[in-house]
Amino acid sequence: MKPSGPIPADYIRRDGALMIGGRSADEWIGIAGDTPLFVYDLAIVRDRIARFRAAFPGVSLHYAIKANPHPPLVRAMAGLVDGIDVASGGEARIALDAGMDARRISFAGPGKRDRELALAIEEGITLNLESEGEAERALAIGRGIGRTPRLAIRVNPDFELKGSGMKMGGGAKPFGIDADQAAQVVRRIVDGGGDYRGLHIFAGSQALDPQALIEAQASALALAARISREADVPPPHVNLGGGFGIPHFANDTPLDESLVGDALSAALAGRDPILADAEFTIELGRWLVGEAGVYLSRIVDRKTSHGETFLVVDGGLHHQLAASGNFGTVVRRNYPISLTNIADSATVETVSVVGCLCTPIDRLGDHVGLPRAEVGDVVALFLAGAYGASASPQAFLGHPPPREITVDGTGIL
Ligand SMILES: *Cc1c(COP(=O)(O)O)cnc(C)c1O
Repeated sequence: MKPSGPIPADYIRRDGALMIGGRSADEWIGIAGDTPLFVYDLAIVRDRIARFRAAFPGVSLHYAIKANPHPPLVRAMAGLVDGIDVASGGEARIALDAGMDARRISFAGPGKRDRELALAIEEGITLNLESEGEAERALAIGRGIGRTPRLAIRVNPDFELKGSGMKMGGGAKPFGIDADQAAQVVRRIVDGGGDYRGLHIFAGSQALDPQALIEAQASALALAARISREADVPPPHVNLGGGFGIPHFANDTPLDESLVGDALSAALAGRDPILADAEFTIELGRWLVGEAGVYLSRIVDRKTSHGETFLVVDGGLHHQLAASGNFGTVVRRNYPISLTNIADSATVETVSVVGCLCTPIDRLGDHVGLPRAEVGDVVALFLAGAYGASASPQAFLGHPPPREITVDGTGIL
């Protein structure tokens, strides 16, 4: 048997039935109509937002919707966070349709097309510029349509977030403007008639070590001050990045966000005077929504081959690529996994849970310990709230898309 990650403590069982929000998982399947089904529980998201607010007083919270763009979830988020970060024109549309004030939306991401720049400028969304060329195009489009573009600079930091699952700073990167070129682009925005909105410094994702985040935030603060002094322009806004991780695998320890918050409060209290009036933001995706989602799929077949027991489910990596270990992971490890119903008398056996795709990489649980399950039972994969449905190759092999519901208490949003 190989270990699986920890099931988030938010989930309880009632008479053996897995509860999500105010109903059992099977009730939600009945309401949604069928499996495979993603259920996102807004109560868990609210809990994470409250934890952030307690740990980071005075710091703004943005939601990075690439983690989960399910429109009902984004609509709810729009009323709970201070801003939404998008990375395409499509995501910008979702954020606007969710009712988010355009002035609280920022748009990062490489390769923005002219029509995406125009949409942002027209709506008053802040563009986090990824290159000098993009700055020139944005200024020209603004002049062309008679609107002042709101422009911030995404900086390619000269440091990295240590222990980060995905490094997005340090060295040559397609993201952002190199730290040593940033000041001249700040000047260009101001001189070119743009509405300069500040700096965006994102150094990586999926960090569980508070010390790594504390160092990255201190470095981001110092870099923001250095660039602002060099440009001689105080930034209205400094986005310090995010990168808070959640435990996915056995032996991962949850992040203690209060340590990071205390250190940031101290660092902000002693900040360079050029940052005195800046608004500071942290942008989070996975940490806010990852643990709020469960992916439910039903067992279609149970078979043995060369002594290994396989449970074949009606879902798979076309919906939950990350759990199969094929979304930016080096070594495949098991996400937390369970059954929706567990009888008291159930004995645990070692099984591999595989999806319905005709490829050997479609493995959702590898030699995991589960109570004995039969055809018709439902498997629950946790941590499905981030980088699930929208980050998986849904067209691969022609199976139907998953159902998705965002729930609050006993109701669907
Ligand atoms: C992906 C991304 C995020 C969100 O990362 P999480 O690990 O989900 O918190 C935030 N900011 C930027 C710029 C990103 O590219």
